[in-house]
Amino acid sequence: MRKKRVKVNFGNLLIFIVVIGLFTYGGIYVYNNFISDDTGNSNDKNSILNNNNEDKKVNKKLKELGYSNNDIEKLENNLSSEDIDKINEKYDNLVELSSVKYFHIENIERYQNLSDNSSYDAEEIVMRVNTQIDRDFYTDVKIVDDPNDPFVLVNKYYEVPQDYEPSDLVSVGNGQKMRSEAAEYVNKLIKDINADGLYLQAQSGFRSIDLQTRLYNNYVARDGVEEADTYSARPGSSEHHTGLAIDLSHDGTLEESFENTKQFDWLQKNAHKYGLILRYPKDKVYMTGYMYEPWHYRYVGVEVATLIKNEGITFEEYCVKYKGLY
Ligand SMILES: [Zn+2]
Repeated sequence: MRKKRVKVNFGNLLIFIVVIGLFTYGGIYVYNNFISDDTGNSNDKNSILNNNNEDKKVNKKLKELGYSNNDIEKLENNLSSEDIDKINEKYDNLVELSSVKYFHIENIERYQNLSDNSSYDAEEIVMRVNTQIDRDFYTDVKIVDDPNDPFVLVNKYYEVPQDYEPSDLVSVGNGQKMRSEAAEYVNKLIKDINADGLYLQAQSGFRSIDLQTRLYNNYVARDGVEEADTYSARPGSSEHHTGLAIDLSHDGTLEESFENTKQFDWLQKNAHKYGLILRYPKDKVYMTGYMYEPWHYRYVGVEVATLIKNEGITFEEYCVKYKGLY
């Protein structure tokens, strides 16, 4: 019988040695960087101890600010450690306020301020501050990031750039204009309500900055700034500037009495099916900044319009609850 010869292939041996070397080096690297702590003692127990020390640091800070242990426990449930890092004083209602879903630590001064000066509950305080209405209308007005966003919020705190004009304006009704998707739905709505024997027309759609400026200035000349502001937007702050708003009329006028028409009843039942919401409801003047306008509708798409109708909220509240506005 022939003995099997053991062949040593030096090429393979070299690869083997290199691989073992890499494993060893890798092991030491992982040990030094991820397992070992700075004292050189390395084990899992120390990592756990370190985490506990972190927690104790946070506790200590809140404790020094004067929060009770009970409050600290709740605050740690409500807030991230980054949020807690941003707290530098003791706020009386922080526990209650921070339990609200839409709470943002960045607004804490304003939440606390409104809390001190009103009897609203925490939920209402967070909503009012996040929608900005704790400030007077037209205070600290911001220009929206993307005026083309179909869900853009334009009101007395958020305006579109003065030179903005939607690129997809098309005809709606007789001679008005809206952005194409909105126009498609509004045209369909007018056709369908007419088919039900009710006359309705598109009274006012997209308005350029020049038109809005002329309108607003005329109203101010007639009624003064304070009154004009209750029914007309300052240039840049008009929802009509977005190309997503439409005023609907049964007789060519825009009057509150429109709410008594069959057309309005029909809209109450059906507008959401065409992606439209009643933008300035009667009971939300304090939030929208506009008097009740039963004729003014905003296109937001069928899904969002249905949600807003079902929840009975304004577009501002929708933005806080579903778009993270604060
Ligand atoms: Zn309008």
